[in-house]
Amino acid sequence: VEFALSEEQRQFQQVLRDFFVKEAPTELVREADRTETFPDAVWRKMVDLGLMSLGVPEEYGGTPTDEITLCIVNEEMARASGALAYAWIPTVQFGAKALTLYGTAEQKQDYLPRIVTGDLRMSMGLSEPDAGSDLAHLRTSAALRGDRWVVNGQKVFTTGADRSDYIITLVRVPGDDRGGLTILLVPASAPGVSIRPLGKLSGQATHTCETFFENVEVPEQNVLGTVGGGVKLIFSLLDAERIYNGANGVGIAQGAFDLARDYAAGRVQFGQPIIDFQAIGHALVDMHLRVEQARMMVYRSAWKMQQGLPCSMDASLAKIAGSEAGTQNAAAGMQILGGYSYMTDYPMERYYRESKLYEIVAGTNQIQRNIVLKHIKSQATS
Ligand SMILES: Cc1cc2nc3c(=O)[nH]c(=O)nc-3n(C[C@H](O)[C@H](O)[C@H](O)COP(=O)(O)OP(=O)(O)OC[C@H]3O[C@@H](n4cnc5c(N)ncnc54)[C@H](O)[C@@H]3O)c2cc1C
Repeated sequence: VEFALSEEQRQFQQVLRDFFVKEAPTELVREADRTETFPDAVWRKMVDLGLMSLGVPEEYGGTPTDEITLCIVNEEMARASGALAYAWIPTVQFGAKALTLYGTAEQKQDYLPRIVTGDLRMSMGLSEPDAGSDLAHLRTSAALRGDRWVVNGQKVFTTGADRSDYIITLVRVPGDDRGGLTILLVPASAPGVSIRPLGKLSGQATHTCETFFENVEVPEQNVLGTVGGGVKLIFSLLDAERIYNGANGVGIAQGAFDLARDYAAGRVQFGQPIIDFQAIGHALVDMHLRVEQARMMVYRSAWKMQQGLPCSMDASLAKIAGSEAGTQNAAAGMQILGGYSYMTDYPMERYYRESKLYEIVAGTNQIQRNIVLKHIKSQATS
């Protein structure tokens, strides 16, 4: 078993850490979220760094990328800014990947080079007001009229929809009684699409939106994958999404730990650095432990996926471990920084707000526990 990152991975990790510290410092991220304004200049620099090309085949201008490296990117981006992560994930991690695996030759040629150059952004319209965890019961429908799909319905929580070019939209088509559902690439600017940002807790620079479709006409060829193959397509990408989501949590957990450690070493009360109060020191040890445990699970799942080994249970465990390391370390870090944690000068309050998301998206942690339980039960001998 090889536990070390390769030299290339380690160097890229450092490049990313330095990049985000320089280009997306706490003040910039805080201001972007406060004004709910997406930091386009940072996004452009992310394009220049090649972050939109990751995982895209070379023939479309992309950079083939291994799964551990993708986890590293997820860690560093989530640590730097939720808003940047929420814009990148649907576009590159989900959109480009789904197109690469399931797009037609024409779709790949049309969309992928534009994603790589930062000229095309995607959002994901899966969740609906009455269909969150239970996606199979969604109501948004599409009917074929001539060579156009006509879409009607409503999505909710469509993150980045108002800045995206296409909404990857999961719809029900007539005759679809087996819960297969279909994915349509709906142009966000099509007549009949209306998008309304919602107020939210964190990452406000990327808006999370309600999206309404009223007789929206979409070219027939904008089906991604097959008609009726939508749920299968999404499920095939879910293990990866869960592992990356765990990596997002690990990134925040590491950020909270680093900040709390440095603060505790420098903050003096009762004549000594607070790190020397055992209660604080032990809390730091527990934070470090959570980072190490969760990262190990995330990387091991990513490694298994890279090898093509079954990793569904590992992915759910990694998602739980990573996201909960994030929330628990952020909460512990808040206590260690005391009153200063509550102020916006330090990113601890952002970690505290942003970490919660990773317990909710990509299938809530209860849904992950249901999946793990199913595996455990299937292994029981009586
Ligand atoms: C900031 C943000 C961004 C998001 N971005 C997107 C996006 O871009 N695109 C998109 O499509 N969606 C997005 N989502 C939606 C997200 O995927 C859903 O919130 C999530 O799937 C849960 O659905 P729900 O909120 O409707 O909760 P529900 O499904 O209503 O669940 C409510 C509670 O019941 C629990 N529960 C439900 N079923 C079970 C069960 N079988 N067993 C045990 N517990 C259960 C859940 O775990 C949860 O605690 C986003 C959400 C947020 C908060």
